[in-house]
Amino acid sequence: MTEPARSRTPPPPDAALRRAAPAVPVYTAGTLASPGIAAYRAAIAAAKPAEAVAVPPREARALRVPAGQGFRITCIEGPQVGDLNLFSTDWSEQFWSGKTRALHGTHLSTGDRLWSSLPTLRPMATIVEDSLDWYGFDEDGCSVHDVIGTRCDPYTANLLSGGQYHHCCHSNLTRAIMAEGFHRDMAEGLVHDVLNVFMATGFDAEGRYVMKASPVRPGDHIAFLAEIDLVAVLSTCPGGDCGQGHSSDAAACHPLLLERLKGAAPAGWAPPPRNGYDRSHGQMTS
Ligand SMILES: [Zn+2]
Repeated sequence: MTEPARSRTPPPPDAALRRAAPAVPVYTAGTLASPGIAAYRAAIAAAKPAEAVAVPPREARALRVPAGQGFRITCIEGPQVGDLNLFSTDWSEQFWSGKTRALHGTHLSTGDRLWSSLPTLRPMATIVEDSLDWYGFDEDGCSVHDVIGTRCDPYTANLLSGGQYHHCCHSNLTRAIMAEGFHRDMAEGLVHDVLNVFMATGFDAEGRYVMKASPVRPGDHIAFLAEIDLVAVLSTCPGGDCGQGHSSDAAACHPLLLERLKGAAPAGWAPPPRNGYDRSHGQMTS
């Protein structure tokens, strides 16, 4: 095994033995309750589009989806990456990218769930259809729909390149949340790490976060079942297919279609309860 390039500490005599410790899953996702995906598929297949929002390039839009119904994101004009935030309709719960990654892996597909922040930690949505599920992991170690990135933002852009760019996904999401009735600073504080819809990403041999042109084409889509009453907020990334860069107007960008799908809830479905932990944290008094 080669030493990491940035290592300056000589490896100890038992380095090989230490590295040979078996890797085990941090969480055993098999112990999670199964979503019963066949019933979900049937419900989404029978549902009809009831509301459609075309998210313009380098913008974001919000869509409300009642629990038990579906929503779908579709590529309509050209390869385009989307950055998705989810909220409960009272705005108290939001999608937790990091724990979703820990439970399901770096990239999501059919059957995986988008989990909410503490203290609720329950599924907010379940992926029911993914037309890019054929992609798997490519020779660069990349796959689609990641929960390893955050969202492009004007602060990192300023840090690395200077300037004042206002159409990063972070800002697009902020404006879309403002349109729901929030002051700008409050709206910005609600923006959280995203599901990078259609984005192709991975880590290179040095562990650096890499991206490549999304394999998404017009007609490709990803469909979800809302497990609780949701506000879905979707940004069309200024990186377009994210094959080159982002945080500027340089890339070709396209709209994405965000639709609410109306129909019967899946057979046997029930909304998930809030997490069962008692929140005492070992303290008898608050
Ligand atoms: Zn972006």
